[in-house]
Amino acid sequence: MKTPRTPGVLSGKDLESDLVLDVDAVVIGTGAGGSIALRELARAGCNVVALEEGSDHLPEDFDQREDHMLPELFAEGGGRMTEDLAITVLQGRGVGGSTVHNTNLCKRTPTEILDRWAQKHAVLGCSVAEMEPSFAAIERDLHVTRIDDDDINANNDALRRGVKTLGWRGGNLSHNRDGCARSGFCELGCAYNGKNNARKSVLPVALSAGARIYCDVRALRVLHDGIRVSGIEARAANGRSVKIRARVVVLAASAVGSALLALQSGIHDPHYQLGQKLHIHPGAAIAGYFDDRNIDGWRGIPQSYECTEHLDFAEGSDRRVWITTAFAHPIGAATMTPGFGAAHMGAMRRYRHLVALTAVVHDETEGVVSIGDAGRPVLRYEMTPGDRAQMLKGVRAAAELLLAAGATEVAVPGVPPRIVRTRAELGRIDEDVVRPHGMPLTAVHPMGTLRMGEDPFTSVVKSTGEHHHLRGLFVADGSLFPSSLGGPPQISIYAFALHISRHIVAAARA
Ligand SMILES: Cc1cc2nc3c(=O)[nH]c(=O)nc-3n(C[C@H](O)[C@H](O)[C@H](O)COP(=O)(O)OP(=O)(O)OC[C@H]3O[C@@H](n4cnc5c(N)ncnc54)[C@H](O)[C@@H]3O)c2cc1C
Ligand code: SF4
Repeated sequence: MKTPRTPGVLSGKDLESDLVLDVDAVVIGTGAGGSIALRELARAGCNVVALEEGSDHLPEDFDQREDHMLPELFAEGGGRMTEDLAITVLQGRGVGGSTVHNTNLCKRTPTEILDRWAQKHAVLGCSVAEMEPSFAAIERDLHVTRIDDDDINANNDALRRGVKTLGWRGGNLSHNRDGCARSGFCELGCAYNGKNNARKSVLPVALSAGARIYCDVRALRVLHDGIRVSGIEARAANGRSVKIRARVVVLAASAVGSALLALQSGIHDPHYQLGQKLHIHPGAAIAGYFDDRNIDGWRGIPQSYECTEHLDFAEGSDRRVWITTAFAHPIGAATMTPGFGAAHMGAMRRYRHLVALTAVVHDETEGVVSIGDAGRPVLRYEMTPGDRAQMLKGVRAAAELLLAAGATEVAVPGVPPRIVRTRAELGRIDEDVVRPHGMPLTAVHPMGTLRMGEDPFTSVVKSTGEHHHLRGLFVADGSLFPSSLGGPPQISIYAFALHISRHIVAAARA
């Protein structure tokens, strides 16, 4: 095998023969959840490997080109969508998972959500006090700090101005960065190694403690006898077969990947829970043009300010919209900019004057992950009328914020586009814009599908992360969450993976 670029990270493209390994535990996926499970198992002295479907990328690989990086770093080349093609679902694929190209926003799980999980979903041990040590440890590991006022770029400053002018609730976000050069390319991978993501801040500790990562290897099936797991069957990118025999299997392939793998493995599912109750935080982008000044929104830290005026976490609340910025590089911006031909080109010529916001719904819609052709995941997700009403409220609020900040024109990329120049025209953003396919939507936070809880009728794994019916099978990623969060999920995922890791370690040692 070729000498790896990073000791301990071996590529399935270089396997010269089929691979069979005997270990204590195997972790599937190396993103927020998988990295922590791998690290904790290795630190505890277990013989552990991780399998990762994507490749390993180092800072020198990130060339800041959308045409190279989007297909390289994202699942299905960035083209993953819901079954009805209404919502693009972006997810990472590579060592470090979605943390490699995320935008570094860090928030703990809201207290109201933790309370709901305890009371309604029978999750044990998830009170604020019980979770505090895990949140604190993760924030230390990732060096989470609040963004300084001086680091708010022009795009985010427009949101801040809008919030202050309207007297709405908002503030600076916290991020996990050290050595950030403020290049603005977070979503294409960081060439400056400024992100304290799983690849930089968690996996090296796991490797030093003896873990190995096989990247470019896709897990195909959990091996089991219906009572307990015995390992994983996988395939390397060069076609070699990989078999890992293990007492413990940890699914951390994301809310989509873990559900798909569980479904493909014929795991006992008497109450039809596998793959159900998918949440994604659907989001719409709204463009504001400031024709009297250059914004150059691609410069500086991409997402540093938020508006929480229309967000609370009570179940069934009529305030379930989180608004932040959503600046995109030219290809991404072109796909969201309304119009065709000369009209589209005219809009793109105003790129320097563009401020982009996103309205994200803290969704109650429950989608489903199932198995499609050639083992691809199918994401069935049709927004409920309640969530559509929230989306409309969010899009209007974002337009109002942009006008308050001084935008000369606001464009909602609906079909047809809605153009608004004054507050009196906000009514042009009508219900039709949020009908299915009424406007392009994007989601970057899949959650749910293998939920935790003590009731096997409504959940898939126990509060310990272990499957209700299959011993040795654990889940340690965003699949665990019984509801959506209403904000960025990475800290919650890292922290819950850490929280349950003692149970994973105990099972691997048994
Ligand atoms: C563009 C973008 C921006 C984001 N910004 C933020 C942000 O600022 N703050 C925030 O909190 N969150 C953000 N997120 C979301 C956050 O990064 C994810 O919620 C989080 O990383 C999910 O963690 P996870 O462990 O569930 O899965 P992931 O981190 O997605 O990791 C799953 C890994 O499993 C691998 N995998 C899948 N199937 C298999 C298989 N069969 N075999 C082997 N490997 C497999 C995948 O390749 C992937 O690497 C963003 C996401 C995106 C896409
Ligand atoms: S803004 Fe900072 S963290 Fe983001 S890619 Fe640039 S240097 Fe890296």
